[in-house]
Amino acid sequence: MRLWIRAAAVRRRVLCLWLLLLGFALVTLALSDLLNRDQDQSHQNPSPPRRPLQRIPRPDLEIIVDSRDPALELGLNIAPLKSLQEDQLLFVPSTQGIKNPPKRKGSYKVILTGSNKDSTTPAPPTHGEVGKEVQTQLRDSEKKVELSDVQKFGFNEVISESISLHRRFPEVRHPECLGEQYSEALPSASVIICFHDEAWSTLLRTVHTVLDSAPKQYLQEILLVDDLSQHGHLKSVLSEYVSHLDGVRLIRSTKRLGVGGCRSLGAARAAGEVLVFVDSHCECQKGWLEPLLERIAQDRTRVVSPIMDVIDWQTFQYNATQWPVRGVFDWRLDFHWESYHHLPDKEQDSAVQPVSSPALGGGVVAMDRHFFHSVGAYDPGILLWGGEQIELSIRVWSCGGSMEVVPCSRVAHVGHHHLPYLLPDQEVLQRNKIRVADTWMDAFRKIFYRRDTLAHFIRQSESPNITERLRLKRSLGCRNFHWYLTTVYPQLYIPQDRPALSGELYNVGTSSCADLPRGHDLHGGVMVIAPCSGTGSQHCDLNSDSEVRFGPMGALCLDVDGERVVASPCAKQRPTSSRLQWKFIKLSGQLVHQQSQLCVEAVKEGGVTHSTHTSPAGLLLRPCTHQPRQQWHFEQLVAPKGA
Ligand code: UDP
Ligand code: MN
Repeated sequence: MRLWIRAAAVRRRVLCLWLLLLGFALVTLALSDLLNRDQDQSHQNPSPPRRPLQRIPRPDLEIIVDSRDPALELGLNIAPLKSLQEDQLLFVPSTQGIKNPPKRKGSYKVILTGSNKDSTTPAPPTHGEVGKEVQTQLRDSEKKVELSDVQKFGFNEVISESISLHRRFPEVRHPECLGEQYSEALPSASVIICFHDEAWSTLLRTVHTVLDSAPKQYLQEILLVDDLSQHGHLKSVLSEYVSHLDGVRLIRSTKRLGVGGCRSLGAARAAGEVLVFVDSHCECQKGWLEPLLERIAQDRTRVVSPIMDVIDWQTFQYNATQWPVRGVFDWRLDFHWESYHHLPDKEQDSAVQPVSSPALGGGVVAMDRHFFHSVGAYDPGILLWGGEQIELSIRVWSCGGSMEVVPCSRVAHVGHHHLPYLLPDQEVLQRNKIRVADTWMDAFRKIFYRRDTLAHFIRQSESPNITERLRLKRSLGCRNFHWYLTTVYPQLYIPQDRPALSGELYNVGTSSCADLPRGHDLHGGVMVIAPCSGTGSQHCDLNSDSEVRFGPMGALCLDVDGERVVASPCAKQRPTSSRLQWKFIKLSGQLVHQQSQLCVEAVKEGGVTHSTHTSPAGLLLRPCTHQPRQQWHFEQLVAPKGA
């Protein structure tokens, strides 16, 4: 009995001990969870937050937005975002006037030089160092492009850091622009600057040039939208810096949104009548905003862009873009600024008159806020980077709006050497383009798929979910792509792509394909013989005018220069001169130049022909023979469904 009682007492004690241990474990777990949550927040960790809106412990002039808000996923219906209760957001009063604000006219100094800079987390530069002279004289060592910097940001950050945040460019506007009068009651503008891992100097220079150049009465606000940047300098130091700037708000997304999504987020938060999207590495010229606002005030369906000047990514020198210029895209759905020579004649007259533009680049683009929303914002299915501007362009034109470049407005944009962030894979861009093609191009999309075979193969195994966008297209009563091609962009050549007369131009003797080296896509150059790419980049089209059209724009024609075959801009007049005409003899595979009646022969580098002399490599005109180097066929790589 006693034994039994003792055993029971021991069991009770063991039980107590277990309970105690369990309690301790629970408390430890709860504590570590709390700590982890704090850590997640302080590092802007992309892991999904538990609540729709996060609060950060320290007061800053910023709003944390969980971009998984259904309003953003839908893109079209922005009502839920706007209807968020004030107390659900993190609106913290501006610290202005409390701290010592940095004086606006100062420059800043870099604390660490390029040589001892940590390669992963750049130290924040000091700001507001008033009176320090701007370093314009660069040391020789600084002039050299630091490879790691270029890799990190896509441009020479060391040079950029040494340049004033308030630098001015020479006046390059046409003298007539200086005399232009703008209405006194222009609409207010919200300037939206999205950024993902932008360098400190370029981001701040963008903000300051807007502040320095936009008239106060028209600048409603600058919205800086952080698209989940990871670089240390874009965190608390930026919050602190921005809190001193009048009229600048910082919004941070807790999910990577990409260019279009980030801009839609900014737009949903904007209060100005006009939205001006500005890339995070731009410098605005004096007087850039008023001409844009004027054009939008006159017609609220106009989408406008300044002339985009170019800041060299190596030297940060400013290069003015020649007027006239307009935005276009090719059949691979890549965007280009097209210069003077290609513009339709009637539009080359005036130095101050805007030119209509089939598309606009994303560097700076402005439009009425209501029009932006009613025409469907940015396509939320276009992810990260690429294609969003082409989609916007076709949609704006097809659904009742228009686009133009305004010559009295100029903004310079840093031409990246490469994108400063990694895309998870190449397919992101192709998937974006697939959305554009399938939503907007009707049967013309086949032309795209033949010239982008990666997109074609992706499309064969998956279909984009474009139901919402097609519904939008229907509800807005948008016109079809044929209308766009004939009315807006009649200069775009429409390939015929006939079977057996289009595709890669394959040479039997060399087992290679006719190609035009990179960088010559727009203006032409000497044709070469190169490994067949299989990507569609070497696609060409022998059409019913007997031209062989080469390149994604279809604007280059096979031509001759002496004995060499070259690609040059196709003639506008019909009939085409016989110099640009070719005949393909299917039986022998010979490609015959009509004017000379000579055949195209492929010559690989150092190839010896005609026993006596060494011939240059490339495509050369030779007397016709039946040797394999004169045998060609057009290989169509893909046969899109229904083609
Ligand atoms: N951007 C962004 N999220 C992204 C990718 C880009 O907010 O996922 C920003 C980027 O910082 C820049 C703008 O969107 O301000 C356009 O991107 P970028 O300049 O790299 O494109 P590009 O001018 O080369 O077409
Ligand atoms: Mn850019």
